[in-house]
Amino acid sequence: MTILSAPPVPTIKPPPHPQWPSLSEGEKEALKARIQAHLQALDAVLVAHYYTDGELQALAEETGGIVADSLEMARFGTESDASLLVVCGVRFMGETAKILNPEKRVLMPNLDATCSLDESCPAGLFSQFCDQYPDHKVVVYANTSAAVKARADWVVTSSIALPIVEYLRDQGEKILWAPDKHLGHYIERMTGAEMLLWPGACVVHEEFKGFALERLRRLHPDAAVLVHPESPKEVIDQADVVGSTTQLIKAVAELPQRKFIVATDEGIFWKMRQLAPDKTLIAAPTAGEGATCESCANCPWMGMNALQSLEQVLIRQDQEVQIPPEIREKAVVPIQRMLDFARARGIGRPAKG
Ligand code: SF4
Repeated sequence: MTILSAPPVPTIKPPPHPQWPSLSEGEKEALKARIQAHLQALDAVLVAHYYTDGELQALAEETGGIVADSLEMARFGTESDASLLVVCGVRFMGETAKILNPEKRVLMPNLDATCSLDESCPAGLFSQFCDQYPDHKVVVYANTSAAVKARADWVVTSSIALPIVEYLRDQGEKILWAPDKHLGHYIERMTGAEMLLWPGACVVHEEFKGFALERLRRLHPDAAVLVHPESPKEVIDQADVVGSTTQLIKAVAELPQRKFIVATDEGIFWKMRQLAPDKTLIAAPTAGEGATCESCANCPWMGMNALQSLEQVLIRQDQEVQIPPEIREKAVVPIQRMLDFARARGIGRPAKG
């Protein structure tokens, strides 16, 4: 494995987790009814990620939208008849929706909702680096800006990265991978492909601690350990299942175990509980004794999506995703290549609730 050490990537400090005023059941229901009315009036549909607030996920399903991983979110936008997509997630998800649906408007509750992986990979630095390795295929994770995607040969999500890299390996290709070093390292170990890794990381998954997980496993020897591959190797090495959000949700629903230790953002528990209400879910530890965690298995940028911010954007219609046409024209190529690959191989479809 070669993790690229130059150029230096920016250090990303996550913002504090947003605190939303608590609502009574009556206030919540009234707010949801108002949002539903706005959605109908605007011919809009909600496209929500598994890491967002559970109330938002429920509302997306109740109003004909979707709750999914980033691959399915992208696919849903292209299949929906709605003229306005309201993407509840982080900015790269909204950008992907806009790239694939230039004729539709795409709103997000908060355009400042970014991602440490995206921020760690500025397009200018990345492009310079790619120029130094012209014999490598550039494969970027979906968690990147539109401008970085425009520089890529392939875009992948965690649910499809393995088969795409296996395919490229079989073609004899060398790979320049960005931006998540942990996911890249995992893919490299699984496929044996020759990969150069950009040194980015997810601030949420990087906080899972191998030594604390070992202790927790001893306390719950009957639990299956589910790990998202953005986590460090010492956490992945203890997993019974390593997979994308959809794959981890399906594992809870389908495996015979009654108890699961889950190493990914806790927003995923809403869908897991919906599909397997009788099973016990335990959050994997983000810190050992005496240590502190900053995001604590709760992505602060995903936390910017709430019923309150959703209503505001539907009223103001001010958080609209815009992509310069020259970037869009290039970025759509590797994204479409991924979607075509997924369709040809029958990969994907969200966990059904
Ligand atoms: S959980 Fe990590 S990868 Fe996902 S949006 Fe947040 S910072 Fe990015």
